[in-house]
Amino acid sequence: VRERCGILRKAADIMEERRHELNAWICLEVGKIIPQADAEVSEAIDFCRYYADEMERLDQGVNLDIPGETNRYFYQPRGIALVISPWNFPMAIAVGMTVAALVTGNCTLLKPAETSTVIAAKIAEILIAAGVPPGVFQYVPGKGSVVGSHMVNHPDVHLIAFTGSREVGCRIYADAALVQPGQRHLKRVIAEMGGKNAIIVDESADLDQAVAGAVYSAFGYTGQKCSACSRVVVLSPVHDAFVERFVEATRSLNVGPTDDPSTQVGPVIDAKAQARIQEYIEQGKAECELAIACDAPSEGYFVGPTVFKNVERHATIAQEEIFGPVVAIIRAANFDEALEIANGTDYALTGGLYSRTPDHINRAAAEFEVGNLYINRTITGAIVSRQPFGGFKMSGVGSKAGGPDYLLQFLEPRHVTENIQRQGFAPIEGADQ
Ligand code: NAD
Repeated sequence: VRERCGILRKAADIMEERRHELNAWICLEVGKIIPQADAEVSEAIDFCRYYADEMERLDQGVNLDIPGETNRYFYQPRGIALVISPWNFPMAIAVGMTVAALVTGNCTLLKPAETSTVIAAKIAEILIAAGVPPGVFQYVPGKGSVVGSHMVNHPDVHLIAFTGSREVGCRIYADAALVQPGQRHLKRVIAEMGGKNAIIVDESADLDQAVAGAVYSAFGYTGQKCSACSRVVVLSPVHDAFVERFVEATRSLNVGPTDDPSTQVGPVIDAKAQARIQEYIEQGKAECELAIACDAPSEGYFVGPTVFKNVERHATIAQEEIFGPVVAIIRAANFDEALEIANGTDYALTGGLYSRTPDHINRAAAEFEVGNLYINRTITGAIVSRQPFGGFKMSGVGSKAGGPDYLLQFLEPRHVTENIQRQGFAPIEGADQ
């Protein structure tokens, strides 16, 4: 454990040294603006240091001895871990899942998303340079439906740590449940999936704060964060004022290439994503009222920030994860209804509330069904250990990344009880008495 933790800390130091190069790769390969790429590199570094500390804590085990009996509770690795990562946090999420698997003693295969293969190759370089022994870690780029699926179904894999879409996550969960010929264990699946995150703005909210926070949460990294806000539920008394200001704030965003320092909203990941988001926008135009569709450069995979208003809570664009810069504003008559609307999807990942009413804040903490609730602040940008991250319902299965229960999923707990009330030791045959 000491050696493994040392390797993680060394990897973190190398990431610090290579921060600018890594920022540049994130900017170029997946189109993230530099300030957000930089935050992502910080998150990857935090994961390495935090999981090293956590493993040292867990390695102490639990001992409960009584007279005549010792009890030892300790952990062992599960076996071979398969990490399948998404492109939207190509560095932080891939590093987090991979180093968690390694520090707990599992041999690990990393299958990154096709669109972030170079960044994952940089992670592999760093892990090798930090001292991961040969054969313990493998970088396996390839197509998810072919290479990823083959490994998910392989009888030698013990654990799958997946982050990505609901569709693929559910598929992996089902595939992994089948016991393959020769397989002598059940596979453990950790699946972090999508969201349809809402921010509630009540009548007591500070609108300056709410507008800026909702715009940042919705359009940061072009809406391609699992934590991004895609619905804003606004109470009637402030609805019209909020919509007007939200639309104007959206209009002011600079949309362009991410290597231009003035850009706030970059392109989406690829042509397929662009076409899918545009289809949702067309559907939105058919089922609700367009408030604004910002212009975007015609060359490249751009989609201008788009806002719909007076959206009906069950509309497609209010229910399905779009994973792009599209926001649905929904009106609520009162706070009960706002909570009902916010909870009215299959997902439970992040949520937000802008309010200066203590009763609303307390009720949201208890009743808003999300893994991570943010009050009077943006709903993206969770920090390792300070805001352990992850959802439930169809947003995922497993314990929060960057939290105190995370590493336990990569370990097998064991227990040994010994009766030490013996009447001397048995003689060994043939030994001198
Ligand atoms: P995706 O599901 O398309 O791909 C994720 C990974 O799965 C990739 O590495 C892909 O190659 C692989 N894959 C695809 N098909 C596979 C199969 N049949 N078998 C095995 N592996 C397969 O997701 P994406 O587009 O890369 O990422 C975006 C999604 O990820 C969004 O839904 C977003 O909400 C979600 N996400 C969730 C979190 C979270 O913490 N909850 C964080 C980031 C992203």
